[in-house]
Amino acid sequence: STQETPQICVVGSGPAGFYTAQHLLKHHTQAHVDIYEKQIVPFGLVRFGVAPDHPEVKNVINTFTQTARSDRCSFWGNVVVGRDVSVPELQEAYHAVVLSYGAEDHQTLGIPGEELPGVVSARAFVGWYNGLPENQELAPDLSCDTAVILGQGNVALDVARILLTPPEHLEKTDITQSALGVLRQSQVKTVWIVGRRGPLQVAFTIKELREMIHLPGTRPILDPSDFLGLQDRIKDVPRPRKRLTELLLRTATEKPGVEETARQALASRTWGLRFLRSPLQVLPTPDGRRVAGIRLAVTRLEGVGESTRAVPTEDAEDLPCGLVLSSVGYKSRPIDPSVPFDPKLGVIPNVEGRVVNVPGLYCSGWVKRGPTGVITTTMTDSFLTSQMLLQDLKAGLLPSGPRPGYTAIQALLSSRGVRPVSFSDWERLDAEEVSRGQGTGKPREKLVDPREMLRLLGH
Ligand code: FAD
Repeated sequence: STQETPQICVVGSGPAGFYTAQHLLKHHTQAHVDIYEKQIVPFGLVRFGVAPDHPEVKNVINTFTQTARSDRCSFWGNVVVGRDVSVPELQEAYHAVVLSYGAEDHQTLGIPGEELPGVVSARAFVGWYNGLPENQELAPDLSCDTAVILGQGNVALDVARILLTPPEHLEKTDITQSALGVLRQSQVKTVWIVGRRGPLQVAFTIKELREMIHLPGTRPILDPSDFLGLQDRIKDVPRPRKRLTELLLRTATEKPGVEETARQALASRTWGLRFLRSPLQVLPTPDGRRVAGIRLAVTRLEGVGESTRAVPTEDAEDLPCGLVLSSVGYKSRPIDPSVPFDPKLGVIPNVEGRVVNVPGLYCSGWVKRGPTGVITTTMTDSFLTSQMLLQDLKAGLLPSGPRPGYTAIQALLSSRGVRPVSFSDWERLDAEEVSRGQGTGKPREKLVDPREMLRLLGH
């Protein structure tokens, strides 16, 4: 028989995994979807990436929860695909496999001194304040006066904002209590956000910039000379970029009003954007034990528009700081030797979500497109992948005959001593987190210790 009940599995429970599952379930009335996740808890970067002071972004969790509660969908957490079960094993058990496992590494800077204490990837820093178990030991040292963030995207601004927000403004968020404790002790007064290119090439968006400009207790430092001649060039750029650049320009060059001037005079912390600087070397303290600063090459731009490149010149500049946060991008890892991977682009080679040369294997989200784009971008691309899969199913391109699905995988996992957690397990942990947050007025206090989570579940 052909597949009356197609068994489909999705690897990863971030936005890509959940949106792919949602679309499959909606457009096929019989399909069953199993979602495998390496963490004990679901939702990927919605839980472990999105900043704690952006709770509205996390509302997508409600939609994902509806999907997970469907009786044609199962969530299996605590299963590392590529270690606990291989992709070929999944391909045997299912009619189709969708890889949506995101981008879990960070781009390295590739400069001397990168390994010094005081150099931290933004990925780890974000994981730390958001309760990602593997980053709980990070203990960032915030006893310095100045921090430098390398990179000018939204993640860089998230990190700057969390560093500079008065801690009492974070108390009612789901930031971990231990991160909040460290931020309360922070001595960081100045944050430089450094980019290789110019004001016309920043990667952050206007909402996040506006938030920085109005951040309580802080004041922006923008050098008007960075913006010379920009006014004339703005005319030719696309509208979102134009509005963003106008806001930068106004902030840099216009004298603020009376109220804003008064606000800024009271500010105890500052942040600024440094353009046309690319990192050459992290400078150590005299004893070689810690970061003392960063050496930046002055760059100049080549080419036009979005493809403008920064080329280092002979000039360099040293910027003293005690903390360097590198926010130059996330990166996907290969998951399994059997799955094609493009190490240069950091993606699984695919055509509209169909993995090249592997029938029945698909991908969606950051591992498909690379680590850029917001949740809605990820949604659109995941729906597209699901569409391709359903087309192939209809065209008879997927294996015919029944497939065992989870029954087969469960047997394998059990023989390997792996105990998956279900979505109702997550709902128990969720309730526990919410109740732990209640005393302090937080939406939740995240559980950060996997052993404790499993103990609470009686595993
Ligand atoms: P992910 O969300 O990373 O999900 C991948 C999942 O796969 C994870 O749960 C991971 O644990 C799991 N996984 C990995 N390896 C395995 C394995 N071997 N086996 C099983 N499971 C595995 N977008 C917005 O719209 N608004 C924001 O405010 C916003 N803030 C962001 C802040 C940060 C710091 C970052 C990094 C991104 C932010 N984004 C934001 C972008 C958004 O998070 C992404 O577009 C989206 O999460 C990408 O979805 P994904 O499912 O591809 O990846």
